[in-house]
Amino acid sequence: MRAIDIHVHLTPQCFQREVLNGRTFHGLDATYGELDNPRHAWTPEQRLLDMDSMGIDVQVLSPGVSFYKYDADVSTTSAIAQDCNNEIGQMIKDFPGRFSGLANLPMQDVSAAIDELDRCMNKLNFKGAQINDHVNGKTLDDPVFLPFWKAVEQLGAMILFHQSGSTVVSARTKKYHLPNTIGNLTDRTITFATLVFGGVMDKFPNLRICLSHGGGYTCFGIGRIDRGWEVKREACANISRPPSAYLRAFYYDCITFSGPALRMLIDTVGIDRVVLGTDYPAPMRIDWPPSWILAQKGLTLEEKEAILYKNLEKLLGL
Ligand SMILES: [Zn+2]
Repeated sequence: MRAIDIHVHLTPQCFQREVLNGRTFHGLDATYGELDNPRHAWTPEQRLLDMDSMGIDVQVLSPGVSFYKYDADVSTTSAIAQDCNNEIGQMIKDFPGRFSGLANLPMQDVSAAIDELDRCMNKLNFKGAQINDHVNGKTLDDPVFLPFWKAVEQLGAMILFHQSGSTVVSARTKKYHLPNTIGNLTDRTITFATLVFGGVMDKFPNLRICLSHGGGYTCFGIGRIDRGWEVKREACANISRPPSAYLRAFYYDCITFSGPALRMLIDTVGIDRVVLGTDYPAPMRIDWPPSWILAQKGLTLEEKEAILYKNLEKLLGL
């Protein structure tokens, strides 16, 4: 049985070569790149050995989220993105069948983001991009992003939503690792809701969007989100169907750390919408991903196969 992982982080060697030798990488120093975790420093060959030990056949690599840098000037962010993306492009070439890629994009400039996505899709054989739940505070339903969504749809790119650093929970408390454990899920739920209520999913019905961390609280909260659409005029300004009608317009990774939550996700969105994500090599990763999926007593063998590889095989042509 194969295993294809869509939620994987990479700290590029081109960054490490600079910062570990006392220089900066387009202004970024060694505090970026999470190098306190030794796995982030590993070469592609070391990474492949670890993938083999876990039973992972293909990693769909994204540059680490600290490299988004949407708050820098566009030329700096573009240079960071291009270097990171080029390294992943080289890994795809050097190790055929083992790596694929999701690009880093300068999202604060929609035209530059489209250009880089086009380059990565058409020249580097990428499958899409990874972006934050907001761009300097703007959610992705903002009209400024309509040309981006149009290009994403036309290019057939997969977009993986993933937070970076602070989340909405950070404003309330930074204690107990809650900005991550609760905040990631909250940010993802906001992304689902803003794209749906903002009419983005209606305007671009062929978008392929994956909500990481199981889509956050989307499935558990969808009843209340629907109720808001029923009773509040402002909630139905852009959409004529209830938000729950859009659940199957998205894909979701399996990072729930809970068998019953994964079962609920599958029952809510359909097994064809759930894919393998691991968060490798972050501390909050699934340690032994295929083993964890295979050990789930509440899933059929067909469902396990769909999550581990069949859905992404079909979706990304891997
Ligand atoms: Zn992650």
